[in-house]
Amino acid sequence: MDYDVIIVGASIAGCTAATAYGRAGLRVALVERQRSPRAHKTLCGHFVLGGAHDVLRRMGFWQPMLEHGAAVTTGLGVWTGAGWIVPPPDSTVPPAVSLRRSKLDPLLRGIAGATPGVDLLVGHRVVGLVEEPSGAVAGVVTSGGGSERTVLRGRLVVGADGHRSTVARLARVAEDSAPNRRFLFWTYYEGATTNGPGDGQVWPLDPDVAVCIPSDDGLTQVGVFPAKDRLAEFTAERVAAFDRFVARLPDGPSLAGARRVSNLVGTTDYPCVRRDPAPRPGLALIGDAATASDPVPAVGCGWAFRSAAWLADATAEALAGGGSLQRALRSYRRAHRFIDRYDALGRREALAEPPTALQRAVRTAAVSDPEIARRLAMFGMRAADPSVLLNPGVVVRALVGLRARRPRGGPSRTPARRQAEPTGPAGPAQGLRPGPPRRTADEPGPRLTDRP
Ligand SMILES: Cc1cc2nc3c(=O)[nH]c(=O)nc-3n(C[C@H](O)[C@H](O)[C@H](O)COP(=O)(O)OP(=O)(O)OC[C@H]3O[C@@H](n4cnc5c(N)ncnc54)[C@H](O)[C@@H]3O)c2cc1C
Repeated sequence: MDYDVIIVGASIAGCTAATAYGRAGLRVALVERQRSPRAHKTLCGHFVLGGAHDVLRRMGFWQPMLEHGAAVTTGLGVWTGAGWIVPPPDSTVPPAVSLRRSKLDPLLRGIAGATPGVDLLVGHRVVGLVEEPSGAVAGVVTSGGGSERTVLRGRLVVGADGHRSTVARLARVAEDSAPNRRFLFWTYYEGATTNGPGDGQVWPLDPDVAVCIPSDDGLTQVGVFPAKDRLAEFTAERVAAFDRFVARLPDGPSLAGARRVSNLVGTTDYPCVRRDPAPRPGLALIGDAATASDPVPAVGCGWAFRSAAWLADATAEALAGGGSLQRALRSYRRAHRFIDRYDALGRREALAEPPTALQRAVRTAAVSDPEIARRLAMFGMRAADPSVLLNPGVVVRALVGLRARRPRGGPSRTPARRQAEPTGPAGPAQGLRPGPPRRTADEPGPRLTDRP
């Protein structure tokens, strides 16, 4: 059977690309190894950053997500030892959205499968590639579980098959892997009350991180991302270690009357993986198959939506017969550099190292400077190039602002605050780490909602 595009993997990236190509009038095979159209990824925190908002709207996914109960987050409070960074009220930062994958994946698959021109082929695992003598990829070989094989031919094969991409392996695409020195667990609560500012909170601690995020059906998702030196504590008594960690978060959620409605979900090792998004003629990689980042900044779903849309934007016309596919793939690779720039920074953050002095200064400045807070939020939501925050102008503004606010003749902070020093753009705060043998929740700590 011949197609214009064969997409391997009917999850976020694959369904987005298939929908876009189908709407462009192309014939699309969307091949998924799972047999049930309702299958979903379980290991995902599903917080989709605001940077994906435009694509979600353009693809017509945003409204159906809301109709399925998705929670919209317009501003996250970020804790620092110098006080909370409160989201600016009239911010231009696009909203984030959260819908559990048990709802999101079937929703996207339904939209893609109903798009004219798209054949959704569930229960087909890709086990081989069709390769031309020229080196171009020209199709896939699938298995339905038995010995029978099906050959699908297409002008473009798209690997949307996740971080362990079979397509990339079969095509011998080089893999660049980097360590992640944190692990993570989360769970969901009914009836939790949040105590920090914004409609969700992030605690960048040194070197651990925690989040409290609204999710669909009124649930509150609480997640912890400790550095791996705490792995033994969590291995010994996972739930107790999680509870201790959350109980000690400054201005953390009130869970006393809340009901935990899931087990702890998470993983103890999740390295970062990167591959060339346009590695061979006739082949493109999107979503995790191209870049599987550290889960801490919650970028993966957004990258999957966006890279799929960028690929379709770059190549649909060439596939419809209007130009060079190779040139179109190069254009996709250029668009993907947006992700590559953030991924380079994310890999450094994944090392869980102490923040630099400049990072700390910018974060402290954001507590009282709404413009720096806005830029920090744009960066955090991946809604603009990293230079929105990482530029000399922001650093100068931060340092000048901090100097102006420093009381004359005295130290810039109280000793208690120095203990809980804040961090940089994506880095953790120093000195306050929930968990033994550190300060307990009952002991007095810095007054975190005070402004310097
Ligand atoms: C612990 C954890 C927490 C995370 N939390 C967040 C978060 O809060 N926010 C966020 O944005 N991101 C998060 N992510 C990342 C996010 O889950 C991924 O980036 C996202 O799922 C990538 O989507 P994808 O469509 O590229 O791949 P996937 O969702 O992995 O889908 C790949 C699809 O390909 C199919 N497939 C695989 N092999 C084959 C084959 N041989 N033949 C046919 N089909 C095949 C699979 O069945 C699957 O349907 C998290 C990741 C982890 C590990």
